[in-house]
Amino acid sequence: MNPQASLIPDFDLSSRNTLALRARSRFGIAIENAAQLPILFAEAARRALPVRVLGGGSNVVLAADFDGITALMATRGKAIIEQREDVTIIEAQAGETWHDLVCWSVEQGLGGLENLALIPGTAGAAPVQNIGAYGAELADLFESAMVYDRNSGGTTSFTRADCAFAYRHSVFKEDKDRYIVLSIRLALPRDWRPNLNFAGLAELADDPALTPQSVMERVIALRQSKLPDWRLHPNAGSFFQNPIVSAEMAAPLLAEFPAAPHFPQPDGRLKLSAGWLIEKSGLKGFRLGPVGISDRHALVVVNHGGGQQADIAALANHVKSTVRTRFGVQLHEEPVFL
Ligand SMILES: Cc1cc2nc3c(=O)[nH]c(=O)nc-3n(C[C@H](O)[C@H](O)[C@H](O)COP(=O)(O)OP(=O)(O)OC[C@H]3O[C@@H](n4cnc5c(N)ncnc54)[C@H](O)[C@@H]3O)c2cc1C
Repeated sequence: MNPQASLIPDFDLSSRNTLALRARSRFGIAIENAAQLPILFAEAARRALPVRVLGGGSNVVLAADFDGITALMATRGKAIIEQREDVTIIEAQAGETWHDLVCWSVEQGLGGLENLALIPGTAGAAPVQNIGAYGAELADLFESAMVYDRNSGGTTSFTRADCAFAYRHSVFKEDKDRYIVLSIRLALPRDWRPNLNFAGLAELADDPALTPQSVMERVIALRQSKLPDWRLHPNAGSFFQNPIVSAEMAAPLLAEFPAAPHFPQPDGRLKLSAGWLIEKSGLKGFRLGPVGISDRHALVVVNHGGGQQADIAALANHVKSTVRTRFGVQLHEEPVFL
């Protein structure tokens, strides 16, 4: 690779983030091969420029002007690489589209990923926030990942334990300037059992001919009926994480609203619904300049046109302070401000 030739100056990222924020980067580069990375970092050091990594841009709030290099993960490839007695191991390169991977695995007759259908973004970003939906999360199926360590310049394999997965969290999110996920391996059960432990899926339990395909179709239909389409209403999915609070902290809220959604956690704390808190704070459909809260889903922040990172930050701060004042609960953003 000739880094000079591969760096594209004044790179426009407005169509590469699902919030459609106006965003430019001093340079952009497509990473089509992991061998480009050490060369890229040497070149970035020579120019004294920071490097940030972008997948599908579906979980980021991009700065209007980034004075550095944006590396777009574009490595491709997915395959079944091993059959074990209990699981089939599949591997995907970081730049593969996550939903395509889910569809492909189902076409191979493999179950396990169907509840995670239609989540935008890339396979390489999936472990970053341990993607989850409809009662499933990546960690349940994760086998390992090949990871480039920017500190050492070397490549290592991370096990599930190395990734320190938690709710919408991992070591990659914790130490976001250090690791680049190059590929992931997932272990899909050969004895597939549907995971129907979620509203909207439970009624499928009566279907004796249930397949990963039919569960996936239901998940897709449910998601399309609930979430605004980011192509029409630019957004980053759930904008706030569901807060996990102590029982004492939740007590006043539950005394006032006994039916408020709350889910006991293994450590005794309670997970609350951020969407419910925002809606009950009267913010569904609220607008602040060019951005606002969706009128369809209180957890979704929408760019109505022309919004920038600063507009989203102002809206997020308003939502957090309103919910804190009303319920005493602190919300945290899910997307990464880059
Ligand atoms: C409409 C909509 C619905 C969504 N629904 C869900 C949902 O149900 N569940 C859920 O969990 N998420 C959901 N999301 C969020 C998002 O789709 C996921 O977080 C997804 O994994 C982000 O992938 P990406 O490739 O777009 O990452 P990006 O947005 O490009 O990047 C996100 C972060 O990961 C880092 N990153 C990207 N690629 C790599 C890599 N290869 N190695 C290291 N770091 C990397 C970036 O630097 C950044 O910090 C939704 C988003 C949208 C827009």
